[in-house]
Amino acid sequence: MSERGVFIGRHVVPRDREFYEIRNPADTRQVIAKFPRLRRDDAREAINIAKDSFIKWSKTLPVERARILYKVADIIESRADEMAKTLTLEEGKTVPDSMFEVVRTINLLRFYAGLITRGQGKVIQSQDKNTIIMTTREPLGVISVITPWNFPLSLPAWKIIPAIATGNTVVWKPASITPTIAYELVKAFYDAGLPEGVLNLVTGSASEVGDELVTNKDIDAITFTGSLQTGKEINEKVGRLNRFIRVQLELGGKNAMVLSRNGDVNLAVELTVRSAFGLTGQACTATSRFLIPEDMHDEVLGKLVERTKKIVVGNGLRNGVDMGPLASKEQYDKILSYIEIGKSEGAKLIYGGQPIRGSEEFDHGYFVTPTIFDGVTPDMRIAKEEIFGPVLAVMTYRTLDEAIDIVNSTEYGLIAGIVTRDISEAAKFIEDAKVGVVKVNKPTIGLEPWVPYGGVKGSGNDMYKEMGEEAIEFFTRIKATYIGY
Ligand code: NDP
Repeated sequence: MSERGVFIGRHVVPRDREFYEIRNPADTRQVIAKFPRLRRDDAREAINIAKDSFIKWSKTLPVERARILYKVADIIESRADEMAKTLTLEEGKTVPDSMFEVVRTINLLRFYAGLITRGQGKVIQSQDKNTIIMTTREPLGVISVITPWNFPLSLPAWKIIPAIATGNTVVWKPASITPTIAYELVKAFYDAGLPEGVLNLVTGSASEVGDELVTNKDIDAITFTGSLQTGKEINEKVGRLNRFIRVQLELGGKNAMVLSRNGDVNLAVELTVRSAFGLTGQACTATSRFLIPEDMHDEVLGKLVERTKKIVVGNGLRNGVDMGPLASKEQYDKILSYIEIGKSEGAKLIYGGQPIRGSEEFDHGYFVTPTIFDGVTPDMRIAKEEIFGPVLAVMTYRTLDEAIDIVNSTEYGLIAGIVTRDISEAAKFIEDAKVGVVKVNKPTIGLEPWVPYGGVKGSGNDMYKEMGEEAIEFFTRIKATYIGY
């Protein structure tokens, strides 16, 4: 397996660095690629190059930046099958789920290419005669982009594309376990004619490369998605440096789906199963708590288990598979340990709860069964902590007020869903759920690129939203100009 390079200004293969292996989580005997473990100095060099490149890139006309973005979209479209396969080999999700990321990336490219040519300023009426007041938006400079492995393509894309579209330059550290698809994304940008140094890709450890991207004085903003713990660490570090830079933190979730007494049971079960076990539960938008009315418990649970039994687990490359492996050994150990925690807390394991072994397809990968715990109460760890795997906690409630209290009872506030036919209930839920996104009769997973996204409470610092037109706000600052004539 050949050694891959990185992008520090341009494509380089740093032969004098140690290379580490990326393995397929569905079959760990297979090495996908090898990437360099860069050092702090390499990250520093990438930041310096991004800083130099900013001078020219920030002056490019938006229409020229848009032209490149449209071309990147066309290139990715022509490589869609290949990229989806790479993503599946590296992260484990099914090919249709990988393709969803590819298509979302193409949509993001075309959306921001269109948006950026429209201009982003305002003209404001002055209190004085013969005066024009206007605002313009300017790029910030060098943006650190730090991303997780679970959406290794479309999530970085929804940060990188608006950053570059608005005239910033980027230094990107992908998660250590998913650099291959990151490499493919950056390559598509350069194949489309992006000038050298505008988008830099640095692979390496969080403690060296990640730390440099947080603490370097030439960074003008940080956009990070990952765990709450890392988010807090980054926030603290930037605070200690006493630098006034923007830090966008999008963190974990403990999303609940509520079935109301007036809701369609079959729909609620379908949406919950899809959002809890699709993507192997490794989505920040996954449903991890299912709240059902106490008096409907037996009926709903029966249907939930029946539907869950139909999930086909296997290698994400195989047709017909619904749920791939967990993405890494670390994830595998963590999920199995949470299953033990659930049992020891007294929750009732009613489905799954085991690793899958015993055949060639499963013996070399990180496969677990979809898992359902019943009788979960809000004080249990499996009801409060983000598990980030295919483990669903079923909880009961008596009134809608109580259900909303349970929804809001964790430290997270990313997404909440309700299944109901009652518009008043839906409206109350929309108003009272303390989250960044509400879904009514829709799965908690699934976001559209033109819609602003972000969490509240422990799910994010809610400084600016991602995606949608709103993403432009984070990556630009406003200048007000008064012109007398
Ligand atoms: P981590 O927080 O462990 O890591 C995220 C990224 O940050 C990785 O690139 C990691 O590098 C890097 N990193 C880790 N520690 C530091 C540090 N101290 N300084 C700088 N960089 C650091 O999260 P995971 O990768 O495990 O991702 C899963 C988490 O992401 C879940 O909590 C999930 O909810 C959240 N997430 C949130 C989303 C949202 O939009 N709200 C969307 C998707 C996921 P390395 O890989 O080298 O360790």
